[in-house]
Amino acid sequence: MWSRIQTAVEMIYPPRCLGCGELVTADFGLCGSCWRDTPFIAGTVCEACGTPLPGQQDGYRIECDDCMATPRPWKDGRSALLYTGRARRMILALKHGDRPELARPAALWMAKIAKYMMHDKMLIAPVPLHWTRLLKRRYNQSALLAQHLSSETGLPHCPDLMIRSKKTPMLEGKTVQERTEILSQAITVHPKRRHRLIQRDILLVDDVMTSGATLTACAQACLAAGANHIFVLTLARVAKDA
Ligand SMILES: [Zn+2]
Ligand SMILES: [Zn+2]
Repeated sequence: MWSRIQTAVEMIYPPRCLGCGELVTADFGLCGSCWRDTPFIAGTVCEACGTPLPGQQDGYRIECDDCMATPRPWKDGRSALLYTGRARRMILALKHGDRPELARPAALWMAKIAKYMMHDKMLIAPVPLHWTRLLKRRYNQSALLAQHLSSETGLPHCPDLMIRSKKTPMLEGKTVQERTEILSQAITVHPKRRHRLIQRDILLVDDVMTSGATLTACAQACLAAGANHIFVLTLARVAKDA
């Protein structure tokens, strides 16, 4: 019965490539040529921020210069895509263009790359958006990714684990330190959700990681509230030379 409904739905709304709109066979994904065009991150990466690194993985932990100079408050961080070309266009569409249907396949790619760091007792939590921005955009793209990630992996998620109590000014032109300071005053753990994170590993989810200032503020808020280890998973990573 269910499969018949499914088939009927597919006849009305045949699955299309997220990149170009061509018909595809799978319900989540890209056609072959868009797949090849999408900058998925593979190979050696910095264990802390997920940025691609030259050379081979040798079994020891590898970190990039930035993460070695300023250690991250989380254990491991991964991104599915490089924030460039087609990936950048898809993320902008998810963020501003009202294309929430991109979140499901995106969450599948994220689940794949972060599989090794996930475990049963982990709690998934999105980076919060201030409510005024939420009104403007209608949805928080990070919360949407977290929700799909949760249904894909079976791990619990808490959409409002953290809140943005203050609206932060534009962060452009500010140093990483200044950004982190501004953000850590704005991001707090929701007092009514605090019990969910105590002594638990948290998987922080966001759409894009640039300097990591927002994720740092979130990780610090979770740690201060009593979380165990923090892990970071983003859809895309802005690489220095990208
Ligand atoms: Zn395509
Ligand atoms: Zn790094």
